[in-house]
Amino acid sequence: MSLRLGRHWRRIGVKVHDHACKASYSSIVEDKGRIKTKYDAVIVGAGHNGLVAAAYLSKRGLDVGVFERRHLIGGAAVTEELVPGYKFSRASYVLSLLRPIIIKELNLEKHGLKVYKREVGAFTPILEDGELPRSLCLFPDDERNIMEISKFSKSDAQKFPLYEKYIVDMANAVDPLLDNPSPIVKEGIMKALRTSAPLLKAVKGLDVADFYEFVTSPITKTLDRWFETDVLKATLATDGVIGAMMSPRTPGSSYVLLHHMLGEVNGAKGSWGFVEGGMGSVSSAIAKSAVENRASIFVDQSVSHVTSSSDKLFGITLENGTQIEAKAVLSNATPEVTFNKIFQNFSGGLPAEYLDQISSIDYTSPVTKINVAVNRIPRFRALGNDLSDIPNALKGTIHLNCENVECVHDAYVEAELGRFSKRPMIEMCIPSTVDPTLAPEGHHVLSLFTQYTPYYLNGNEEWTSRDKDEYRDAVFRSIEDYAPGFTDSVVGYDMLTPMDLEKTFGLTGGNIFHGSISLDQLFLSRPTSFMASQRTPVPGLYLCGSGSHPGGGVMGSCGRLAALAVMEDRKKLAL
Ligand SMILES: Cc1cc2nc3c(=O)[nH]c(=O)nc-3n(C[C@H](O)[C@H](O)[C@H](O)COP(=O)(O)OP(=O)(O)OC[C@H]3O[C@@H](n4cnc5c(N)ncnc54)[C@H](O)[C@@H]3O)c2cc1C
Repeated sequence: MSLRLGRHWRRIGVKVHDHACKASYSSIVEDKGRIKTKYDAVIVGAGHNGLVAAAYLSKRGLDVGVFERRHLIGGAAVTEELVPGYKFSRASYVLSLLRPIIIKELNLEKHGLKVYKREVGAFTPILEDGELPRSLCLFPDDERNIMEISKFSKSDAQKFPLYEKYIVDMANAVDPLLDNPSPIVKEGIMKALRTSAPLLKAVKGLDVADFYEFVTSPITKTLDRWFETDVLKATLATDGVIGAMMSPRTPGSSYVLLHHMLGEVNGAKGSWGFVEGGMGSVSSAIAKSAVENRASIFVDQSVSHVTSSSDKLFGITLENGTQIEAKAVLSNATPEVTFNKIFQNFSGGLPAEYLDQISSIDYTSPVTKINVAVNRIPRFRALGNDLSDIPNALKGTIHLNCENVECVHDAYVEAELGRFSKRPMIEMCIPSTVDPTLAPEGHHVLSLFTQYTPYYLNGNEEWTSRDKDEYRDAVFRSIEDYAPGFTDSVVGYDMLTPMDLEKTFGLTGGNIFHGSISLDQLFLSRPTSFMASQRTPVPGLYLCGSGSHPGGGVMGSCGRLAALAVMEDRKKLAL
């Protein structure tokens, strides 16, 4: 099939027009001229976690300054008008993980957070010949799922509700860990057990051996035990590898799936939703809650380093030389950026073992995010008999190149060999199907979360613009195979490889979680087993980003736990 790819799009695609979004934040972002020389606490970075920390600290009466290097707040939870008239959730695109306690305590609904729960969870069209290729849809209710899966296997259809309950039980066992600090095993196992009371309560009644086997298993092992239908297993397996440089056959991929089932939308466990106005609206609601008290947020203010004596932290210095005093410094940057850049010149020094462990965190990322503006809804061959303007199947996550687990595994193997996948795994979402504020009438914004793409090609080569064009062509060609005419509908696009994600958002290695969410980098060892805490070996320095417990996703816990740690240390910090 020949595609009209190239020059036309390149010219219009990547210019970022974010003025409209910036304007919507202007009422909550302070004027640069008003930066004070002293705050109780300063926060490096205005990602959603930094903003959550600011909101909690200011709510408790602290004078808080937040300093963000980009021109807008939100970090990877952001809305940008990448093509004039089209607003994109440029990085993260769906919400589920944000902790209910944070939504409640920060009054986020009052501050404008509105989530559209998705009525269709997944739609996986199958690439096959014939008038009407088959497809699989997964819904939030048992009745429709049983009917749908029966098209492939009666046995799988009957087992599916039981499988869903099994996953929810597993997720419930982890749930209390998300709102509580990681148990500090270093201080003795008995103390750790005492502080783990909520966790112990949650695992009561759980088959712990089964739980252990589940979280450490490849997702293929789990799914093969339950089901026989290839497309069902592949669709479910995507959650086991999303954002992770893992094959569905990699041990621990079952935990990655669980991580994506830990959240809820409006009380429905494991559901995901679209945020009205895009993911930037989550950040803007949190920011509004923060400034309602005494937090001030400044954009275009990169923090260069901390100011310190040999045993004391005084505050931070901005790139422009401005020095700001603070008794507590909270870093929303990744552990790598925090300790190997901002803290590079820390005169007090850090324990070598801690630094060693920080430097060995795995930030590998397979993700290239492509955001596309189109002038009409894609027409999928598999939906040929659905004549509605916007078929319901397109209101959830659309899985492409997901006919079977082998497709996903093969895509992974190519990236391990240093190449981008020729048939990448694509998760397409079209939030404008439920949120008309994002695109002109009849037009749409498409979020393409694609993998697998290595940070360097062939081991050490930076992506050239030709490589990027080739990858875009591979992705668009795949979509064209399922939805002919797609390429003609493209108005503009923006593409971020792992290196671009790093440059744009400060995500080390392009890793979307601030460090892989593999079991060796979670709970008792996030960010390090030396100190699995929001606290760090430096009194007064805290980590409040996703690199700390309980890890990545738009969850807010890392920010909340960091703020609670500061409040606990208030006396020690003389705050
Ligand atoms: C492509 C992509 C898709 C994703 N999809 C989803 C999804 O759909 N749902 C979901 O829940 N999660 C998703 N995630 C993961 C999620 O977005 C992140 O884990 C989360 O947003 C990280 O939040 P954070 O506040 O910890 O850090 P960040 O959002 O990374 O914020 C850190 C902030 O610190 C700033 N900063 C860094 N250094 C400095 C400095 N020296 N001075 C000043 N500021 C600095 C950065 O600019 C940034 O704004 C996705 C991520 C990506 C990249």
